Amino acid sequence: MEIKVVKNVLKSNEDKAAENRRRMDVAGVLAVNLMSSPGSGKTTLLEKTIAALAPSRCAVMVGDLQTSRDAERLAADAVEVVQINTGKGCHLSAEQVSAGLDALALEDISYLFIENVGNMVCPTAFDLGEHLRAALLSTPEGEDKVAKYPVLFQRAHVILLTKIDLIGALGFNKGTVKADLSRVNTEAPLIELSAATGDGLGVWLEWLASKRTEIGK
Ligand code: MG
Ligand code: ZN
Repeated sequence: MEIKVVKNVLKSNEDKAAENRRRMDVAGVLAVNLMSSPGSGKTTLLEKTIAALAPSRCAVMVGDLQTSRDAERLAADAVEVVQINTGKGCHLSAEQVSAGLDALALEDISYLFIENVGNMVCPTAFDLGEHLRAALLSTPEGEDKVAKYPVLFQRAHVILLTKIDLIGALGFNKGTVKADLSRVNTEAPLIELSAATGDGLGVWLEWLASKRTEIGK
């Protein structure tokens, strides 16, 4: 009984996600869903990314349990920011993103970045209508996260190892991450970057541009 309810929820989410994707395709928007634990650097990466993509116009949808702090940080650079307070909800749903799309002038936007709720588990189960999924892992979280939360990394189109400037101080073992990734996802590139120093940001921006061309935006 319970399993059936879950299946129905996921099915209706998938239908809504497909509709979101069509709306964005018609408007020529490339949507990227960023997923990670809290504190891995999603907002900071977006601040840098949006500034670097100018004059391409970006919008951001920020999913947060309670606050609008991330949205406030991003509002300085982003063309448009939509805040989605999920209350107790620990992930964004396609329905919430659909309501967010209603608030955006899609025709004027090239990129939509969706900052999912900080959580490595259930956001992976909910297609939002994005074209690309980015999984972030920051060096302070430790090198065991790919093995512990494989689904997040398995479904990602790109894996971003953030706060790479701290790698020496933390004694973070990149080899473990690479070995674990070789078991769960051999397609997605691993991009090492630091929003603080700017290292690797160019690789990430090039990847975005190449995907934009590949998807035909
Ligand atoms: Mg954030
Ligand atoms: Zn959840």
